[in-house]
Amino acid sequence: MNKKTIVRTLEKIALYMELLGENPFKVSAFRKAANVLELDPRSLSEMDDILKLKGIGKGTGAVITDLLEKGQSDLLLELEETVPKGLIPLLKVPGLGGKRIAKLHEALGIDSLDSLQAACEEGKVRGVPGFGKKTEENILAMLESLSSQDGKVPIWQVEQVVAFVEQQLENMEGVQRFSVAGSFRRTEEESSDVDFIVVTTEPAQVREQLLKALPIANTIAAGDSKLSVTLDLEEQIDADFRFVRDEQFASALHHFTGSKDHNVRMRQLAKSKGLKISEYGVENEEGEVTTFESEEAFFAYFDLPLIPPSLRKDGREIDRAGEIKELVTLDDIRSDLHMHTTWSDGAYSIREMVEACRLKGYSHLVITDHTQYLKVANGLTPERVRAQIAEIRALNDEYDDIEIFCGTEMDILPDATLDFDDELLSELDFVIASIHSNFNQPQEQIMERLHAAIKHPHVDMIAHPTGRIIGKRDGYDPDVPQLIEWAKEYGKILELNANPYRLDLAVDYLALAQEKGVPIAINTDAHTINQLMYMDTGVNYAQKAWIKKETVVNTWPLEKFIRDIIRK
Ligand SMILES: [Zn+2]
Ligand SMILES: [Zn+2]
Repeated sequence: MNKKTIVRTLEKIALYMELLGENPFKVSAFRKAANVLELDPRSLSEMDDILKLKGIGKGTGAVITDLLEKGQSDLLLELEETVPKGLIPLLKVPGLGGKRIAKLHEALGIDSLDSLQAACEEGKVRGVPGFGKKTEENILAMLESLSSQDGKVPIWQVEQVVAFVEQQLENMEGVQRFSVAGSFRRTEEESSDVDFIVVTTEPAQVREQLLKALPIANTIAAGDSKLSVTLDLEEQIDADFRFVRDEQFASALHHFTGSKDHNVRMRQLAKSKGLKISEYGVENEEGEVTTFESEEAFFAYFDLPLIPPSLRKDGREIDRAGEIKELVTLDDIRSDLHMHTTWSDGAYSIREMVEACRLKGYSHLVITDHTQYLKVANGLTPERVRAQIAEIRALNDEYDDIEIFCGTEMDILPDATLDFDDELLSELDFVIASIHSNFNQPQEQIMERLHAAIKHPHVDMIAHPTGRIIGKRDGYDPDVPQLIEWAKEYGKILELNANPYRLDLAVDYLALAQEKGVPIAINTDAHTINQLMYMDTGVNYAQKAWIKKETVVNTWPLEKFIRDIIRK
């Protein structure tokens, strides 16, 4: 049992009660208890007072006791029996919580995604109190995008799952080493499951520990070479664990990273040399199996350089292996040009962000807080920008190993004007322009805004150029090829926003930008110190588009950055 499972169980009980139209006070008691546990910084083993915590009452305490003693909650089992099965999938429709689903169920007898869709199409939903025509349209649109997702989980959600599992494996007895494999290791935008390769000589021991440590909805297979489960985290997702011996690790990792087509091409290549690739190693005609120290050694055996996981796609990467040495790698990155601090909606001070960038070995960085139009993000007024510039210049004097530039992430307003005047912009070293509002404008108007920004002499870069959130929203539908043309014409940078929520620009556009000679900046847009690590995701994603080191602005040395961007 772990805390996450207890929290999830309490939340689930609240949700199911809501679906059944239970008393709101009862429902909120369960939510509150879940929240109390979630906010407590201690892990379950460090809590001896769990039933006495403020916010845990009689009902919620009974559930926790059940979970601790029996590993399951009788109340939840009972609710699962009672709630009509078809209502559960409705919870996946964004904006439809338990309460609203209960209303629809009561008023229209809606009990499945199909009956919800039919009711929307017949215009019945708008007649239910609290729902309007607009809501009905939104629900229909959501239903459509749900059916196109087909059980795939977006990368930012998979990342949370992977981080959680890795944390468990980190200190697990009997685990020698491990790695995530599969589509997540290839930096795919969506995954249908997650794969882990675990090196151990004690698979049974590791398997039992995993079964205890992970929140599991159901166990599909549990053997000595493999454990398959459905994890019950934020989103349900299948996870496979392969238990291998140390000498098999590299081959298993390659095999289970895929892609399928990449593996097919590698097997053909092997066959042409009289060899056979399996998940255990490479077998020759005499049946002798060669194993490898690393994936690099495995590829070298076939006279290939290490093909990075993100490139393993349709097999053609094997023909282009000669180009790999020119591609951007994490080691090439010297700076991050987009991050936020407590001055706007970031969680850390300028100094803390600078120290974190120093630890990464960067030679320079730009502080780019939001501007006044973005009130929800505590955007800076011109006065506050000038105060921030003074603070940054003073701080910069304290460091001789890292250069801190004064920047801004300035809003492009709905009427195609900019949030700051030219005089203020000229005082800044680096100006990012972004759209954060009125996404539903027609393309023509969106392009007018982007044009106004990109041609402005003080603007250096357009951030997250399409505004998409993977698996959630498409963004504001700009004409990206046109934007790329403008970037070329005006000599401006386009961003690859490395936050896994965004990965914006997407692969095909990145490739087009590079082809047209437009410089790209890979930026984390970090709002916390931890998010600076997204540089890794960004670089891996850029490799999918075969982006070269020279294309990427933040691989440039400080002197070149000053000469070509800051002083331009
Ligand atoms: Zn932004
Ligand atoms: Zn930002």
